[in-house]
Amino acid sequence: MTTRKLQQIIRSIPTSDGAGVKLRRSLGQAPGMRLDPFLMLDEFSSESADDYIAGFPDHPHRGFETVTYMLDGHMLHQDHLGNRGDLVSGSAQWMTAGRGIIHSEMPQQQSGRMRGFQLWINLPAREKMKPASYRDIPPEAIPQRSLAGGGQVKVIAGTLAVDGSKLAGPIQGISTEPLLIDVRLPAGAVFASELAAGHSAFVYVYEGALAVGPAHEARTLAAHEAGVLSAGDEVCVRADGHAAFLLLAARPLGEPVVQYGPFVMNTRDEIEQAIADYRNGQLV
Ligand code: MN
Repeated sequence: MTTRKLQQIIRSIPTSDGAGVKLRRSLGQAPGMRLDPFLMLDEFSSESADDYIAGFPDHPHRGFETVTYMLDGHMLHQDHLGNRGDLVSGSAQWMTAGRGIIHSEMPQQQSGRMRGFQLWINLPAREKMKPASYRDIPPEAIPQRSLAGGGQVKVIAGTLAVDGSKLAGPIQGISTEPLLIDVRLPAGAVFASELAAGHSAFVYVYEGALAVGPAHEARTLAAHEAGVLSAGDEVCVRADGHAAFLLLAARPLGEPVVQYGPFVMNTRDEIEQAIADYRNGQLV
């Protein structure tokens, strides 16, 4: 086994999106800060309604997938296909924009904590114009397991190989084979799992800090930082105090990426077509 090392740290930066929701963006803060096929990762976390109450009113997407994973709070998703999904604490939403979707995500609370993530994953060129689809994943559909080394893991997408067995998440069959897991570790606990060789992978710490990589050359990854992992077929991290993190991996596409806001295509012509289609009411 080759243990992946911490190759690059992308510190998240405070920004806002939607109608003024405050968030921290790590991947996607600049075009060079993507990790094929991952385009963007936002973390939102606030106890103050002013930071989230405006929500994400109707807006379009084309050419990729958006994933929302809620830790705390309540949002309502609605889209042009007629889907309605309650995003409650511990739930996820997997939306394949394909040729186009218009949706909103609006807070269903006037106070209290709102915390979670939005992840954008690219689609291969041959799937960018497929019909949009949506999946609402309630908390009880996300398997959770205690880890041999201490702590717990939840598997949202893909199949995790850990402690000598496999744990399959509800999202399967995506062509980039994404793995998305949420791990909580007590102080000093070590988490190690297999990770497909050749897949891009990164860790995002949202509480505490981790030592990432083989024991003799581990590097520290702090809260609100994304750590891009080197090649290898195993990941190993140790909690530096209590820690909570996401681990993400997927098969890179190796295709050109041209992005204009919520449209992600392969060429400028395709972006101009997306803008024209949206203006003409023909995106979806
Ligand atoms: Mn959206």
